[in-house]
Amino acid sequence: MRTSNWILTAALLTSFSAVAQQPADTQPAAQPPVDATQTAQPSQQAPAPAQAAQPAQSAEPTPAAQTAPANAPQPMAQPAPAPAPTTMDQVVTLFIEREHGLIKSLSSRTPVVETYLQNLSADSALGPVPSADHYFLGRMDMGETIDRKDYLKEEERSMQSRLLGGFQKLYKVQYQPMGFSWMVYADRTDFDREHYNFHYARREFLGDVRCLVFDVTPKPKSGHGRFLGRIWVEDQGFNIVRLNGTYYPAPRNSYFFHMDSWRLNLIPGYWVPAFIYSEEGDFSAGVKNKVAFKAQTRIWGYDLKRGGKDDELTQIRVDSVTDESPTAQDASPLQAERAWQQQAEDNVVERLTNAGLLAPEGDVDHILQTVVNNLLVTNNIDLPRPVRTRVLLTAPLETFSVGNTIVISRGLVDVLPDEASLAAVLSHELAHIVLGHNLGSKYAFNDRMLFSDEGTYQNLGFRHIPEEEQAADKKAIELLKNSPYAQKLDNVGLFLKALQQRAPALTALLTTHLGNPLATNGTVNRLSALETQGPALDNAKLDQIAALPLGGRVKINPWDDKAEMVKTAPVAITSARDKMPFEVTPFFPRLSRFGANAAAAAAPTTSAANTGSSN
Ligand SMILES: [Zn+2]
Repeated sequence: MRTSNWILTAALLTSFSAVAQQPADTQPAAQPPVDATQTAQPSQQAPAPAQAAQPAQSAEPTPAAQTAPANAPQPMAQPAPAPAPTTMDQVVTLFIEREHGLIKSLSSRTPVVETYLQNLSADSALGPVPSADHYFLGRMDMGETIDRKDYLKEEERSMQSRLLGGFQKLYKVQYQPMGFSWMVYADRTDFDREHYNFHYARREFLGDVRCLVFDVTPKPKSGHGRFLGRIWVEDQGFNIVRLNGTYYPAPRNSYFFHMDSWRLNLIPGYWVPAFIYSEEGDFSAGVKNKVAFKAQTRIWGYDLKRGGKDDELTQIRVDSVTDESPTAQDASPLQAERAWQQQAEDNVVERLTNAGLLAPEGDVDHILQTVVNNLLVTNNIDLPRPVRTRVLLTAPLETFSVGNTIVISRGLVDVLPDEASLAAVLSHELAHIVLGHNLGSKYAFNDRMLFSDEGTYQNLGFRHIPEEEQAADKKAIELLKNSPYAQKLDNVGLFLKALQQRAPALTALLTTHLGNPLATNGTVNRLSALETQGPALDNAKLDQIAALPLGGRVKINPWDDKAEMVKTAPVAITSARDKMPFEVTPFFPRLSRFGANAAAAAAPTTSAANTGSSN
């Protein structure tokens, strides 16, 4: 069984090779969209100390209790097909209607919203490089007043704001009203002909989807914070699929960022906001930047059910907790102990999934489990319970394990250059399991799962004491040296060196929320014995890929949170600036219509998936 799994490795892991440096669907800045017009010039006024700039929306924070849905949101009804328009004027009417329809349909949703921002400074060899970073994670209430609640502790946030330095005031301005998520909609309240002029520009394909492109400008005296930029409207349902621009005019003493906002057709009839890229700064010669950053905002968890039970999780629980012995007997003390630990593990996995932090079991886990199996088989380790893996949906580089479940963050899978490096980070958690460090079972009591989603980070934690960390690293290296990855540990050494090089600047990316950090105070401490392994890090060597940019490996479905590996064609690296290790890049998803890709797969029907729930 295990041997045959191992043989499959080569086939499974082709998507995990070092050549997949730049995914075609998240093209970096090297290839800007030919058509992306920057019609908006941001106001150069000084940042506001207090008053937040808000795009034409009420500032009143609505108590969550009023706007939050009582329980599961209603399934989204598919809109009636529009009659084919014959004039551009009719097209404008249609997409205005569809935009209002989307706002209404999503008003009961509370998706997860994550913003990861890197401040930039100029490096003579590498161009703009991250000099500091910031991270925000919360739930966005898409009801009457868009509101967001944070998963991060107040202390963490205030610590981050202390680190913001001169940028703090400006950042606060945009952050308080959810700044980076504004562009989920062009204008939540007044997207109409009274407030805007719409000018048809041209037709253009975004991925597989033919779009009509319009320039949108606010009418004079239509108020502050109106959308100014360009929209792409798909030519069948006339939904907006992309918005690019800013808000204008900014109130005195405030400032709006530029954003590029993408939507995906994840359910029939609707294109839901999924990715927003923001960028400010000019790195041409002689320009002094007041603000220079790039930031990715991701939205997922649209279909999260509050307190509901996911079918898949229920199945896992039944499979794993049921005593598989043929004779119906009471559990022996050891069996009872193991069942008890299993219960704790299952509770945590279920709770994290319901909070929108873990992907349901899926494609990526097959790869992770294959790597774990390779380590187990070659080390002749037989564990009483199987090792499972799951993907944490967030960006910070993090692994942890609960019971026999190893969890690795999307951001960490993204930046790992090859399978050996993946094996290395997994081997540390596997070592905890093998060494019996994960036998705690306090989460077996269900009352300990009764906290709000926003309270997840305060209520759960899987950190080990320093002695266990050292023991796990030692054991991990032992496991690696007996494994098929033994010959490739030079790559792991290179990855750790690259991480060390960027660690002082990327504090937020290295701040873990549930497990032990890979680096503390700017120094990498995970598997540090391997850091000296392999050649010296050399940015100028184009064939040396020590770490990848964020976003290139794992693709999350924002509707059902499923994670899959990105399929991309390798893109040649032509300069050291192309490497962008650990960096944020613009989004360029390949757009396609709902069901267009699934048709080729074994999907039985598309209508069965109309609520987007997992099946
Ligand atoms: Zn550890």
